[in-house]
Amino acid sequence: MTTDGEFQVQGLPVSEIAAEFGTPLYVYDTDVLRDVYQGLRSRMHPGVDIFLSLKANPNISVIGFLGALGAGAEVSSLAELETARRAGIDPQNTIFLGPGKTRAELEACAAAGLHAVVCESLEEVEALDGLAAATGLDRLPVMLRVNPDFRTKGSGLAMGGKPRQFGIDVADVRGARRRLKGLRRVHVMGLHAYMGTRFLNHEDLVHNTREILATAESLSEETGIELRTVDFGGGFGVPYFDNETGLDLSALTEGINGVVGEFLEGRPECRLINELGRYLTARCGTYVTRALFVKESMGEQFVVADGGTNHHMAAVGVGSFVKRNFPIRSLTRYAEEPVGTYTVTGPLCTPNDVIGKRVALPPVAAGDLIGVELSGAYGPSASPGLFLSHGFPAEVMVHGGAAHLVRSRDTVEDLLGKQRLIDFRSPLTTSQGA
Ligand SMILES: *Cc1c(COP(=O)(O)O)cnc(C)c1O
Repeated sequence: MTTDGEFQVQGLPVSEIAAEFGTPLYVYDTDVLRDVYQGLRSRMHPGVDIFLSLKANPNISVIGFLGALGAGAEVSSLAELETARRAGIDPQNTIFLGPGKTRAELEACAAAGLHAVVCESLEEVEALDGLAAATGLDRLPVMLRVNPDFRTKGSGLAMGGKPRQFGIDVADVRGARRRLKGLRRVHVMGLHAYMGTRFLNHEDLVHNTREILATAESLSEETGIELRTVDFGGGFGVPYFDNETGLDLSALTEGINGVVGEFLEGRPECRLINELGRYLTARCGTYVTRALFVKESMGEQFVVADGGTNHHMAAVGVGSFVKRNFPIRSLTRYAEEPVGTYTVTGPLCTPNDVIGKRVALPPVAAGDLIGVELSGAYGPSASPGLFLSHGFPAEVMVHGGAAHLVRSRDTVEDLLGKQRLIDFRSPLTTSQGA
């Protein structure tokens, strides 16, 4: 088979990657990951540390790669905490947040020596204080996640500035002076705010940053909370749909750097953190499926592929009226122009398993590789991988021109190994009727 005109990752033809690791799979390109990170790092004020939100892509080699470039980690579960640790992220470059931390998680946070635990309620701060006392810890660093009261616009999904389970309302932080004074073992050393995800307008993000830093400043003055660190969130978007345009990175960083520069003049010792998931990882990833069948139904052409929304729930499309498609390409005929439209579906027995509706593609034949681009964020980990028991796909990272398996595909044994069959055929051994 010729590899002319097919999609390549660092010079590797996608057909070779698929032949070696099977399909469906995710491919991550470290050249893209590096360019995105360095592009931001080189423009962003040096006083701002960039953390990866593992939620967007929890693969250990993704955080390992970014960590080697200098990124920190924002984690929200025991497994994410351990992922960051094993990937070599310094605990001082790791923070743990999340609205519902269990006692086991709080204990692990306390033991890990993190830069900070981000607490999302006063009750949680007090629980952590008690836990620190019980385990003999002193000055356990804590940041308070604030739910700001300013308005934000332009987010695909707002997480602050309205009633939310996240963070502590600004008014409650103001009123908590006495409660915070009563804390013995935790050291409230900073504030955190995150306004939401998928912002594509730099002015909205600069506005968020300015307002969050101003909120932190005034809360610190009113309550005496120290500002060793302020995490001003992120939510930088990437354009998925053809009606969207990407962030103007120069305008964005110029705006943020101006706000940050001013803030740091008054507080040169304050550490600033910008936590990002989607922006850092979306572009490096492609979801690769193989067309099993090409068929027609009532005048519509369908490509039935070996993977679908079970691995890529995000591609199901957002918007209730017009479902928009992620960028979907024929990877086999990557260089060719579209000739027709195909609806690309997966293997699930549900009509919702549609990755793209009426996608313009070159001619598709069974066996062709079809790819969903911009898929390095919120892929497998945000998808119902157990639905119909297909399990999760392989993840492959292409680095230095070579393909590395960074997560093996789930096998039938992986899926069944956790299940237990009760022995229904032998006589009951319970004390029935006793
Ligand atoms: C989800 C989340 C992020 C990452 O969001 P992206 O839009 O993917 O960058 C960062 N911080 C918090 C608190 C989050 O909940």
